[in-house]
Amino acid sequence: MGRYPRQVIALMVAPLGLVLALTALLGVAGDNPAVRIIDDLLNFGLLVYATVCAALAARSALGRLRRAWALMTAALAAWAIGDGIWLLYELILRQEAPVPSAADAFYVVFAVLAVAAMTQFVTEPMRESRLRIALDGITVALCLFLLAWILALHTVYDAYRDDRAALFVALLYPASDLAMLTIAVVTLLRAEARQRVVLTVLSGAIAVMAVADITYAVLVAGDNYRTGDPIDAVWGAAAVLFAAAALISRRTPTPRPPTLPVPSNASLWLPYVPLLLAGTVGPPLVMTGVERFLVPVIVVAVCLRQSVSAWENRRLLTAAADQALRDPLTGLANTALFDDRLAHAMVLRSRIDRSVAVLSLDLDDFKLINDNLGHSTADRLLADVGRRLADCARTGDTVARTGGDEFALLLEGPFDESDAVARRVSAAFDIPFTVDGHDILLRPSIGVTVASMSEPDLTPEVLRERAAIAMHAAKRARSPEVQTFSADMVPVNGATVDGAARAGGDGAAQIRLLGELRQAIDHHGLDVVYQPKISLSSGETVGVEALLRWPHPQLGLLLPETFLSLIREQGLIQRVTDLVLDKALDDAVRWYGHDARIPVAVNLFAPSLRETDQPDKLCRALGCRGLPTDLLTVEITEDIVLSEMDLVTAVLRRLREYGVRVAIDDFGSGYSSLSYLRDLAIDEVKLDRNFIAPVTSDPRAAAVAQAVIDLTHDLGATVVAEGIEDVATADWLRDHGCDVGQGYLFGRPVEAAQIGVFAGADIRDIDDAAVISPP
Ligand code: C2E
Ligand code: CA
Ligand code: CA
Repeated sequence: MGRYPRQVIALMVAPLGLVLALTALLGVAGDNPAVRIIDDLLNFGLLVYATVCAALAARSALGRLRRAWALMTAALAAWAIGDGIWLLYELILRQEAPVPSAADAFYVVFAVLAVAAMTQFVTEPMRESRLRIALDGITVALCLFLLAWILALHTVYDAYRDDRAALFVALLYPASDLAMLTIAVVTLLRAEARQRVVLTVLSGAIAVMAVADITYAVLVAGDNYRTGDPIDAVWGAAAVLFAAAALISRRTPTPRPPTLPVPSNASLWLPYVPLLLAGTVGPPLVMTGVERFLVPVIVVAVCLRQSVSAWENRRLLTAAADQALRDPLTGLANTALFDDRLAHAMVLRSRIDRSVAVLSLDLDDFKLINDNLGHSTADRLLADVGRRLADCARTGDTVARTGGDEFALLLEGPFDESDAVARRVSAAFDIPFTVDGHDILLRPSIGVTVASMSEPDLTPEVLRERAAIAMHAAKRARSPEVQTFSADMVPVNGATVDGAARAGGDGAAQIRLLGELRQAIDHHGLDVVYQPKISLSSGETVGVEALLRWPHPQLGLLLPETFLSLIREQGLIQRVTDLVLDKALDDAVRWYGHDARIPVAVNLFAPSLRETDQPDKLCRALGCRGLPTDLLTVEITEDIVLSEMDLVTAVLRRLREYGVRVAIDDFGSGYSSLSYLRDLAIDEVKLDRNFIAPVTSDPRAAAVAQAVIDLTHDLGATVVAEGIEDVATADWLRDHGCDVGQGYLFGRPVEAAQIGVFAGADIRDIDDAAVISPP
């Protein structure tokens, strides 16, 4: 009875009590007219109760199940009428009903309708082969019959051997009971879990009735039956079981959407129970000698063997079914299973008070990992992510991988705890993932939505879509990385590049922007500006950093953060790198021509560092312009270096062999590792703005900065501090040994033409008007 025992038990207490009272009464009182009337009345009452319960079950059921219970209601009603007629005979005519009587006509109707009802109980389409069902049916029917025959029916047969009509009537009820029981057992084998309880109770009811009918047939054959016989209580018990089955059926929740067919536990052994009974009870009764013991042992062995092989089959099927619903890489649920669970959760939610929430998660910039580390490392990383997510979920929640780097969590429970889970998930990404020796810090974008109680008609599809919209909003906003769905969020077509979404605006606008970007690249529409790098000790300009700009005809001057992700994700890296490099070196040639030897630094995207011909290309670009190689510095970001140490190391070593300088950019911004300072041959470390900003206010930050400056010097590299905006910071850095500074304090990025002005000049002499600020 599982989930709904209380109401069912409450409704069963009275009828059960009546049956027990009847059993006691019939057992003790012996034959007298008052007892007979009470007996008839009680049985009649119990049947009416069972009929009402069946009618209620029919009313709350749907489809085939409704038909099944409607037929069962009619059958029980016929039985009740039969008992009613019997009662009238005893009460009014003061005599026993003759055999056969009008009551028998209704009992026959019961038998026919009940058999018909039993055929309607399976609502699932047939999965097993019909042959197997037929064979199961034949085995069960024959074994039950054999059992009944050995135990009782052969005496009935002996009694009516010469009177065929009487024999037919005497065997009619036991035969219809056995037919019903056979159907019930075979149905039970194929039933879904939720129907199994109902069918088990129903089978119990029929089995009890069969015992009563067979005993009755034996008693009548020996002319030993009279109303008031204790056997009457057994019919009462059958009626109570019918009522119980109906009540449980009413309480069974709406079906879970069908998943893959895996046979129930019961189907493994249930078909063999009748065989086991017939084969072990029969032989000792009808056989003699050693066969009496040998045959039962053989039967038991065969039954065991069959059950074991059925169990093995089932294990294979379960494994196959499980595979079909799992993501092979992470072992998490796949989309099919997730959708299935979500649909079920939404159905349950409408029945009982339960919270359902969906969390949608997408990893930021995972394409970078794929491009840089290769698919097998990326796969291992995804598996690790899967494990962490699974650790964040509560028991009962479903964690699924729903796409390449997309995951989803279904949060089900009595209370809404989606906030706490989302926070746990977000925190789980604070620790870097270690894969193949790389420490990789991943960030997720997380969208959460809770199925509100005020929207009873909410569909699973809409809920998932909302989570996706919230996730895209998180991706656009970047911070905070967890966003809860709200109606004013703009949906983003998930298919339109997630980088595009991040750059702002809706999907269509992003596609347009991408087209314009390609055009700008083709038609030299991208610009490069230069930010001076100043020697902190002398105040001289010691170089410039080339920074990308896109003067957009409508949107104005766009900064890299608006379109860099588009470049990365749309495979435009190489073209843009070449473009910036050409411009920067052309400008350097011009400055050189004016006797200004200004070293220029260019930022490289990660994938460029995997190109083994990159050093040669750079060298050729410098050589054909007659520029010395040490005029060029390439800036690489530390997370890039970390993630692909071997390849990158080789490329960087070649670059340095040619004389090109290498700088580590944004040091201290991500998950810094000192180890690559040791492993990589570099010329310059650029301390990130956020790393140096607190040095004047936070002694601990100052201590760390000081240590990094000293360490860099020990390794023979130059220290450059980025993003210096105030004099105090510049002074501190100079006093603590930092070599070079860069930042708005010294100059914003400016066009090439203005750089000649800086060259060789003391920065303090530069007129503020010469400095062009980005908008
Ligand atoms: P980055 O390499 O760290 O470049 C420094 C960024 O800090 C520049 O932003 C610069 O304008 C800004 N900045 C300089 N001084 C200050 C300051 O005092 N305060 C503040 N708040 N900011 C300052 P920008 O030009 O927007 O570039 C952003 C990032 O875009 C760069 O960071 C670099 O990673 C990337 N980037 C720019 N141009 C290129 C390029 O040609 N190729 C590649 N691969 N990446 C580029
Ligand atoms: Ca840089
Ligand atoms: Ca930087």
